[in-house]
Amino acid sequence: MQENIIIADKRPSTQIYASWQRQLSQAIRDPATLCKRLNLDDSWLPGAATGHQLFEICVPDAYLTRIAPNDPNDPLLRQVLPVSDEASTPQGYVTDPLEEAEHQPVKGLIHKYAGRVLLIASPACAINCRYCFRRHFPYSDNSPSRAQWQEALDYLRADTTLHEAILSGGDPLAANDRQLAWLVEQLENIPHLKRLRIHTRLPVVIPDRVDDALLGWLAATRLQKVMVLHINHANEIDQAVIDACTRLKQAGVTLLNQSVLLRGINDSVSTLATLSERLFEAGVLPYYLHVVDPVQGAAHFDVPDEEAKTLVKQLLEHLPGFLMPRLVREVPGKTSKTPL
Ligand code: SF4
Repeated sequence: MQENIIIADKRPSTQIYASWQRQLSQAIRDPATLCKRLNLDDSWLPGAATGHQLFEICVPDAYLTRIAPNDPNDPLLRQVLPVSDEASTPQGYVTDPLEEAEHQPVKGLIHKYAGRVLLIASPACAINCRYCFRRHFPYSDNSPSRAQWQEALDYLRADTTLHEAILSGGDPLAANDRQLAWLVEQLENIPHLKRLRIHTRLPVVIPDRVDDALLGWLAATRLQKVMVLHINHANEIDQAVIDACTRLKQAGVTLLNQSVLLRGINDSVSTLATLSERLFEAGVLPYYLHVVDPVQGAAHFDVPDEEAKTLVKQLLEHLPGFLMPRLVREVPGKTSKTPL
């Protein structure tokens, strides 16, 4: 059996789990409970069950409280409620839309772009977003054992052109802080690495994730820190999220946001403008607006390119340049994101 420990964890069995870990363990993981908690009528259940079979539901309470009950069109609910459309398989929608399997020189490491590599620091997420381009990712094949992490670190040590390590997943912050502190310590001992980038949705989904343990290793590292949050709608940014962002900034973290342009969720000029304004109030700069990657199960979220371009053109009339996210697509084989 493969050793599943990502990084040695010597916590005693009586370990008291952090608040965010308890919240995550209590997340809703079945469609019936989600529909009941939000007072949705039973007609949503069959579709939710179909989608759930393809990609399990996961919604923590801290996120659920931002969803309006009795409203099947709530923009946050639409991101997490499985629907029968996920079973449709239109041409061109595949399980690995970015062909990441082609770029994994060692387990748990993806090297696509010059100067930076991505490490799969955790196979888990705090929420399962229905449009996720990694909804079919073979995490079980990419959860390195401790020895295999050494292979990934050796890869980083050997390539002096690398200046940035990107922690991804899953959600890298779903790993515990001992694991992450160990990994970051290994990274900061590699002299040519300058930056640590963390792609995460956890500070948004469970703001209590930004606790003293996380802030401790973040503040201590010599690496420059960039956190790319993933927020698609202004309703996701409540006071708890703003407070979490403030704490991260105090620890020296540069905060950026990437969104996905999603049909029925944020595909209007006013919604995108409000999102950018709200992000800035929270101390976060809009960075990317991605079109949906053609992953099986997410075709119903797609906004065609011409419509996306028109939206962004109109958005320019409402926002100062520094609040404009860049509209991009990720094209397999390209050496960077492709602006639209
Ligand atoms: S948090 Fe990120 S990786 Fe996890 S399901 Fe959502 S989009 Fe995918």
